[in-house]
Amino acid sequence: MNKSLHQLLELEELTPETFVLHFERNDFQFKPGQYAVLRNPETAEGREYSIYSSEQDERLSFLIRKVEFGDFSRYLRHLTIGSELQIEGPRGCFVLDEDILSGHPTLLIATGTGISPFHSFVQSYPELNYRLLHGVHFPDEAYGRDTYNSDRYQLCTSRQEGTDYFGRVTYYLKENPVSEDTVCYLCGNSDMIEEVTDILEGYGVSAENIRSEVFF
Ligand SMILES: Cc1cc2nc3c(=O)[nH]c(=O)nc-3n(C[C@H](O)[C@H](O)[C@H](O)COP(=O)(O)OP(=O)(O)OC[C@H]3O[C@@H](n4cnc5c(N)ncnc54)[C@H](O)[C@@H]3O)c2cc1C
Repeated sequence: MNKSLHQLLELEELTPETFVLHFERNDFQFKPGQYAVLRNPETAEGREYSIYSSEQDERLSFLIRKVEFGDFSRYLRHLTIGSELQIEGPRGCFVLDEDILSGHPTLLIATGTGISPFHSFVQSYPELNYRLLHGVHFPDEAYGRDTYNSDRYQLCTSRQEGTDYFGRVTYYLKENPVSEDTVCYLCGNSDMIEEVTDILEGYGVSAENIRSEVFF
């Protein structure tokens, strides 16, 4: 496991609350879907963040939401370009199987910044046979939307009606059945993951074909 200092190259603001930190990669190796621990080198305080960038990217990037009253995400939001952070990892086993990489259909379901590992999947494996559901409150939270093929991507906005599906990902799934041989990857908050797991199991998807990464 790597544990090294990485310099911040860019802070890209996506919305007033959400941003992408782009670090120098150095020789950090990972599999798409894994996460790292970002740590303040002075205080040793740290948190886990899924890797947003692709396996081929020269930079190592993370998609982060500045959480209200959250100490660490606020600290990250105020980093200055050129400052160094300790990055530990890679960690986790939320990675794609060989059969998915060979074309088996996969359904990716995220809420909020839970789209981060899926961004890494899609950028790393352009041939992936995926369908992506992204649940957000407002349309401007469709982070990195241009990355995804529009035929494979479905935004679900729960607090503002627009041109996308209006409602939570759980409502969308109840209206749009999933075939039982689909392999499903779920990432985001635990309430969504529990509810979506119940819905998928109701469609006959086996527990072993439902993989999840819980952020909080
Ligand atoms: C494996 C793993 C991967 C993660 N990857 C990411 C990631 O890619 N991007 C990211 O922004 N966060 C991610 N997180 C969450 C992250 O580790 C922190 O918990 C988060 O940044 C809040 O830290 P904080 O110190 O600011 O607030 P804290 O005081 O630690 O948390 C305050 C509260 O904020 C809420 N919260 C935590 N994370 C989020 C979030 N992402 N969106 C909305 N509310 C949240 C929770 O209710 C939490 O109890 C991940 C967590 C895990 C376990």
